[in-house]
Amino acid sequence: MTNHLFDGLLKKGLKTPEKAFATLIDGRIFTYRDLDNDTAQMANALIALGVEPGDRVAVQVEKSIEAFFLYLATVRAGGVFLPLNTGYTPSEIEYFLGDAKPRVFVCSPKKKDALTPIAEKAGAKLETLGVRRKGEAPAGSIAERSADAEKSSNVIERSAGDLAAILYTSGTTGRSKGAMLTHDNLLSNAEVLEDTWAFTSQDVLLHALPIFHTHGLFVATNTVLIAGGSVIFLEKFDLDTVFAHLGEATSMMGVPTFYTRMLDDERLSKETAGHIRLFTSGSAPLLAETHRAFERRTGQRILERYGMTETNMSTSNPYDGERRAGTVGFPLEGTELRIVGEDGKELAQGEIGSIEVRGPNVFKGYWQMPEKTKSEFRDDGFFITGDLGQIDEEGYVSIVGRDKDLVISGGYNVYPKEVELAIDEIDGIVESAVIGVPHPDFGEGVVGIVVAERPIEEEAVVAPLKEKLAKYKQPKRIIFVDEIPRNTMGKVQKNILRDTYADLFN
Ligand code: ATP
Ligand code: MG
Repeated sequence: MTNHLFDGLLKKGLKTPEKAFATLIDGRIFTYRDLDNDTAQMANALIALGVEPGDRVAVQVEKSIEAFFLYLATVRAGGVFLPLNTGYTPSEIEYFLGDAKPRVFVCSPKKKDALTPIAEKAGAKLETLGVRRKGEAPAGSIAERSADAEKSSNVIERSAGDLAAILYTSGTTGRSKGAMLTHDNLLSNAEVLEDTWAFTSQDVLLHALPIFHTHGLFVATNTVLIAGGSVIFLEKFDLDTVFAHLGEATSMMGVPTFYTRMLDDERLSKETAGHIRLFTSGSAPLLAETHRAFERRTGQRILERYGMTETNMSTSNPYDGERRAGTVGFPLEGTELRIVGEDGKELAQGEIGSIEVRGPNVFKGYWQMPEKTKSEFRDDGFFITGDLGQIDEEGYVSIVGRDKDLVISGGYNVYPKEVELAIDEIDGIVESAVIGVPHPDFGEGVVGIVVAERPIEEEAVVAPLKEKLAKYKQPKRIIFVDEIPRNTMGKVQKNILRDTYADLFN
């Protein structure tokens, strides 16, 4: 019997059963043998609960090693893993469960009462999983069932094209969509990333990302698993813990805010970062300035890559070649990427257009949304990512923004990123987000939402932009705020800003 993803990911690891797969910060170690035994028991517990091949197992729990094992156990049991953001409220959970119709829903013990009626309504069996502390008994009903379950390996046959997971997108631009990911979408991407980023069994990855999102769940862990390496498993990103363990790790994957927060901490230095061979960044744009500041402080160039829930990783800066700030590098081996104009035709090199990708990494479609799926794919199989980008002479891809964030003012396209970069260069500006809001004369008016270090006049921002930007790109208003709204992955929520300032010109 073969289970494409599980067998593929653990090919190396299970040959070194004594080796640590995960070290927790309380000193507990989970070897590859532990991973094998625990996920076998958990898979048996899921099967005993009625999970059959193709059934969804939805999960909203705090990050823990058991929660990560639940992903592998679900795959092993032939199920489809469906993690949900820990921040979702019960009414949001109601939407997801109603949409996904899982066989089993696992939640935190503390949310059990609130979520019981919701699980019942969706026809899902409710189980709980808490965070087990050192020396304590298993936390939650699924952990107890697993501890009592059959130990025999129970790997259910699954092939390359079968679903392994449904991952909801971050909901940055609207309602989250469930991306159906197959065993081979995940395995092929893990194989390519292992190669591209030179992961080996010697690697130790500092894992501080959440595990309900593709970045922490798949990119960080699948890449390590397939290489037979190990992780230092943090419950969350916290500067004290990160600096306490950075010296034991060889790699760290982060969202840009991890890096800006580390830069704000005086502990970041050549010495403290010196054991790391690879820092990667993704999920949101890494400012070129952050890239350079990080290099000045540590001597290391962060490797930025680009991907999304629907495509896994699509591009990466090179491991050996130049990691170019402000770009996301080249398409990964096996992935094709093209830049297309509004008419659907490929554009000449250097032009800005819609990014489309095709390859084994690209998902099977949106769960229960055949029309949406159809409209996001071209006839030749390319997926329309919704991101805008360009490719330079040497082939480096840059992300210019999302097509939904493009501002059209007086009939001209304004790419927010260009305006943001110009604003961010002004003395005293911390960061900015540029949006378009309805304008009686121009259709949309460009507005700069700005965080400043100290109180400054609107004119002090507007004036220098007059020299840098064509008139139609210049913000008609600058609004100062204390903070730009971001979601848990560090993504700027421009839809919130657009709603807030919708009536600015009316
Ligand atoms: P939704 O699709 O629900 O609006 P989302 O697109 O934010 O949410 P994700 O799949 O988590 O959901 O994020 C993928 C998006 O993140 C990409 O389409 C891209 O816009 C952005 N992204 C990822 N990596 C980078 C990067 N290195 N630079 C710029 N943007 C990035
Ligand atoms: Mg998206």
